[in-house]
Amino acid sequence: MAKKPKRSTLVNKAEKLWKEIVRIRAGHRCEICGDKEKQLHPHHIEGKRSTYMKLYLANGILLCCSCHKLGEAAAHADFLSGQMKFHKKIIAFKGQSELNRLYHLRLKPPNIKDAELIEQVLQYEALRDRLKERWGS
Ligand SMILES: [Zn+2]
Repeated sequence: MAKKPKRSTLVNKAEKLWKEIVRIRAGHRCEICGDKEKQLHPHHIEGKRSTYMKLYLANGILLCCSCHKLGEAAAHADFLSGQMKFHKKIIAFKGQSELNRLYHLRLKPPNIKDAELIEQVLQYEALRDRLKERWGS
């Protein structure tokens, strides 16, 4: 029987797939401003402290450099006022009720067992392949 993979290996694998899926799903464009630059960043809307939020597809959005870090109204802007401006754009994109749902999930993230993690990796691989078939890589 094959050796059971380490949890950290599974999480890394699943996160890599999460990023790929967020990119393909967004059509390789910034989901806030529509920019199609080379460097796009899959961003976690409500952070990624828990494994659940790290791997949750609804918590992902694809951003250009400007919307991610560099712009005045970026997700990781230096000033709170900039982050607040970004937050307004996220509300427009996701809707307030969906953001509330994500926020509450962040506060009480469900646990993911190792067996579920293995299942998630397999599901994400299948989803990525389906998306690639439909939209191209
Ligand atoms: Zn952008």
